[in-house]
Amino acid sequence: MRRWLVWAFVVFIASTLTGWWVYNIYKPTYTFTKPAQAALVISFDDRYVEAWHKHRDLFKRYGVRATFFITVTDQLTAAEVQMLRDLSADGHEIASHSFTHINAPKFVKQEGMAAYVEQDIIPSIKTLQSQGFSPVTFAYPYGARSRELDRELSKYFYLLRGDSWKDAGKGIDELDRIYYTFSGRRVIHALGIDANSGVSLQDLEAGFARASRNKEAINIYAHNISEDSAGYSISPHTLEKIFKLAKQYQLQSLTFRDLVL
Ligand SMILES: [Zn+2]
Repeated sequence: MRRWLVWAFVVFIASTLTGWWVYNIYKPTYTFTKPAQAALVISFDDRYVEAWHKHRDLFKRYGVRATFFITVTDQLTAAEVQMLRDLSADGHEIASHSFTHINAPKFVKQEGMAAYVEQDIIPSIKTLQSQGFSPVTFAYPYGARSRELDRELSKYFYLLRGDSWKDAGKGIDELDRIYYTFSGRRVIHALGIDANSGVSLQDLEAGFARASRNKEAINIYAHNISEDSAGYSISPHTLEKIFKLAKQYQLQSLTFRDLVL
């Protein structure tokens, strides 16, 4: 009986120590202490710089500051870089959407993590920096991610953005993953709201009401801004309605950087 107790004690100590060791490996190196507030976080992906820039007055009119996640940064023309600088001067955030827009988990599986960081992360940060920006947040191309990638990329960025789509038969006020609760979480999911997403203004209203009620930040994202709003784009008209709705629900407009810094 005594022997059994000794063994139980040894197992207890060993598992406690293992737990402590694992916790220390994965614990956050710092925490964010921003007060919770009802907010709208809107972002745009890829490289529709001209279209975004063309509508900068629309953002200004409603005091909306967006985060633009840019990819293929080495192919930006001088004019596009200037447009991004204008957007940055307006208070928008210019952030990283990888260098070549490859599917990160697939690439890591074939080539390994070090090669991925070397080929798609470091050059993205470096080109953006050489163009005068300081990217501190990142959106996964195709929303494709893994825990292993989250751990690695947290070394380079404060926040990582995954994606989320509308669940048939579910309101977006039930999609917990698109709400940031100012908890210090490093991975945030945004709801795609492009023309092809099936997300209506009524859907968004339910989401905005929840954000307002719970003091959460609702995360939404799109790609192109175009009158011809098909596929991966949203019309300026719809965007204006969304901005009006956000005002109505008194949602503060925050960039990704604002969520943590
Ligand atoms: Zn993309």
